[in-house]
Amino acid sequence: MTHQAKQSIKRSNIEKPHCHILSFDVEEYFQVEAAAENISYAEWNSFEKRLVPMVELILQLLNEYNASATFFILGWVARYEREVINMIANAGHEIASHGMSHSMLRELTPQRFRAELEDTRKMLEDISGQPVIGFRAPTFSITHQTAWAIDILSEMGYEYDSSIFPIHHDRYGVPDAPGYVHYAIGPAGGRVLEIPPLTVRLWRRNLPIGGGGYLRILPVCLIIAALNGAEKNGQCGMIYLHPWEFDDAQPLLPMSRLNQWRHRVNLKRTEGKLRKLLEHFNFVSVSRVLNTLKVGTGTYHYGNPPKKTND
Ligand SMILES: [Zn+2]
Repeated sequence: MTHQAKQSIKRSNIEKPHCHILSFDVEEYFQVEAAAENISYAEWNSFEKRLVPMVELILQLLNEYNASATFFILGWVARYEREVINMIANAGHEIASHGMSHSMLRELTPQRFRAELEDTRKMLEDISGQPVIGFRAPTFSITHQTAWAIDILSEMGYEYDSSIFPIHHDRYGVPDAPGYVHYAIGPAGGRVLEIPPLTVRLWRRNLPIGGGGYLRILPVCLIIAALNGAEKNGQCGMIYLHPWEFDDAQPLLPMSRLNQWRHRVNLKRTEGKLRKLLEHFNFVSVSRVLNTLKVGTGTYHYGNPPKKTND
């Protein structure tokens, strides 16, 4: 570790005792929803795997800044690249579930979703030796229409979820959902702690800021300001990234020009931006702050029609 890095850790620990949450969705670059139209699940194994060096880079960064993170890992990765789970677990980070097939939840039946959750959790727990208590749906695909997933997560004993993006977007999002940690209530009354990605409230809307393409496009000072804003409100900001976002040498994928741009914009800048955030803030995994997050937390009902309560 460089002297400068040590100094910044020291500084951040003294001046910034508040914790934010860092998370990674662990999947290969060719498994993204934007390429799903042209690349089927059956074809995944024919692509070059590029995950291991990217995960190594992320683990080295976290180690350098003394940070911990939650890794939402795809079951396919556990099946075909199990060394990735070993690397992450051995470095002391939290292992959580990202499902098996990377299907949007609207494409799954509740039965198939339950089976994917069971299979993925079993593999992740067997390899890592850690209990899996957190879930993130592929492409943030829990919406009012797929709110049955909340009931299934609750029934299966998941303690938290991070699948609901409280924004307007063409592929996902629940614009009326709270932009802060709350208990999500499913249509059958199931309850799970919901940790949404970081957004900022502007013009009576939540605007996305805390991860993926948004983080790669926006100036880092805006993300720092948003995390400071969350802190002022007593909230932990949730940042999310993918290992493939650190890989600017990844092959081109068959997808539309818009999706190509969204997928590849500023890949070269991801590492530098994450470094800046790690210099400014203390980041931890969800499991390290879970009990704190639960204190005084309100509820929000999903499914139709949505209804807000404050009990
Ligand atoms: Zn994903």
